[in-house]
Amino acid sequence: MSSEVSTKVFDGEEASLLVKDLRESFGSGRTRSYEWRVSQVKALQKMVVDNEQEIMDAIRADLARPPFETVVYEIGILKNSCEVALKELKQWMKPEKVKTPIATFPSSAEIVPEPLGVALIISAWNYPFLLSLDPVIGAIAAGNAVVLKPSEISPASSSLLAKLLGKFMDNSCIRVVEGAVDETTALLQQKWDKIFYTGNGRVGSIVMTAAAKHLTPVVLELGGKSPVIVDSNINLQVAARRIISGKWGTNNGQVCVSPDYIITTNDIAPKLVDTLKTELEKFYGRNPLESKDLARIVSSNHFARLTKLLDNDKVSSKIVYGGEKDESRLRIAPTILLDVPRDSLIMSEEIFGPLLPILTVKKLEESFDVINSGTKPLVAYLFTTNKKFKEQFVMNVSAGALVVNDTVVHFGIHTLPFGGVGESGMGAYHGKFSFDAFSHKKAVLYRSVIGDFSIKYPPYTDTKLRVVKAIVGGRIFNIFGALLGWS
Ligand code: NAD
Repeated sequence: MSSEVSTKVFDGEEASLLVKDLRESFGSGRTRSYEWRVSQVKALQKMVVDNEQEIMDAIRADLARPPFETVVYEIGILKNSCEVALKELKQWMKPEKVKTPIATFPSSAEIVPEPLGVALIISAWNYPFLLSLDPVIGAIAAGNAVVLKPSEISPASSSLLAKLLGKFMDNSCIRVVEGAVDETTALLQQKWDKIFYTGNGRVGSIVMTAAAKHLTPVVLELGGKSPVIVDSNINLQVAARRIISGKWGTNNGQVCVSPDYIITTNDIAPKLVDTLKTELEKFYGRNPLESKDLARIVSSNHFARLTKLLDNDKVSSKIVYGGEKDESRLRIAPTILLDVPRDSLIMSEEIFGPLLPILTVKKLEESFDVINSGTKPLVAYLFTTNKKFKEQFVMNVSAGALVVNDTVVHFGIHTLPFGGVGESGMGAYHGKFSFDAFSHKKAVLYRSVIGDFSIKYPPYTDTKLRVVKAIVGGRIFNIFGALLGWS
């Protein structure tokens, strides 16, 4: 169903008409001016500011997430993204002068960022506003027309996004299509100039296959198992609080940068478990299923998926804290497991929920092998005060990002690119990286018609060959020498 009131099914034909419309708007040049881009980022900013309560209510309906988390991780980051874009857009749009070689003298050159055209953004349910609107800010700042397809798994947010973007934005260039697999498939059949997808890797590969048909570039923001290494000689209380805040304090573990599992040594593990238990009880009380400060699981499918991860004696017998569930309210308490089998389901796939296994190793250096034996994570965390170990961590672990002594906070730093590597995704965004993700860096060379040396034209004499060799060698002295006939 499109954002406009329509009884027609959104199929390939509708999708094709939509893209045709947007291509015409883009072709008219409307989206290219600095003024249009600023007006649209401002409109989006106003839309978020004016509708904070509605946004919080929609997310509460979809996830029962505490408003505090929505203010910090969706509204706060979105407002900041708008402010950064408005402050820096002029600079981002400026062509970048670059040097030219003597071989093209006299000449000058620049790199001109140009909009790609019509972009498709497919977003996920867990941060439905942030993951939809943050890429939209990048797309419009870069001067593109855009179609947003929010996730059907968070329906209240999806319909509010359609309503608000319909009301606040320039709909000749910015549209929302609501729907699930059928609607997304119809959209993916079209030719786009960029597809920006957030979600799981299985669908990521469907998106990439569809994009390949038209040679469309993609950004894939995927997930994975993000580890946390915990060293000795750190302040365990601070480490525990920061792990809790990144795990259960952000959508109850349903976030792509959530700590997926902990690796620590046999001697630290019991102390870490005790500290986590103490801090968890301070945060969420003795009966966390009743806590208003914990989001619920998004759907019964995801509830069943998480239950299945525990549905094995070898795993459920390892629960050292939590484990309580309430299916009728889709609630699962913060749950810690110690020393689960490495070949269990919970250690083979991304958890994306409130379960946190702790693996133990004899020496902490072994944790690099544990991480590198799996797929490349979206982020890897380390808690340590050991300088040498930090350096080894940076050298040895490949991930979308690394964070030392905290969790999740890197997501809000717009000067850092956000994205995965390998199975955790490709491409990046946030701040200027969002602008770049939706721009083509056009190489432009300006030559003069003076200085049209005949040396590059046939007939190719020995002198010309000598001079060309000297030019290729790049040494001014040799070039003059060759011109003067020196060998
Ligand atoms: P989801 O179910 O909302 O799906 C994402 C999008 O894909 C939706 O818009 C949905 O309609 C579409 N989709 C689903 N099946 C499809 C199909 N067969 N064909 C075409 N489109 C289809 O979200 P999800 O996949 O459950 O999201 C969770 C995953 O996303 C986790 O792996 C998580 O780590 C990852 N994630 C990554 C980031 C990031 O920024 N890197 C952010 C959030 C989530």
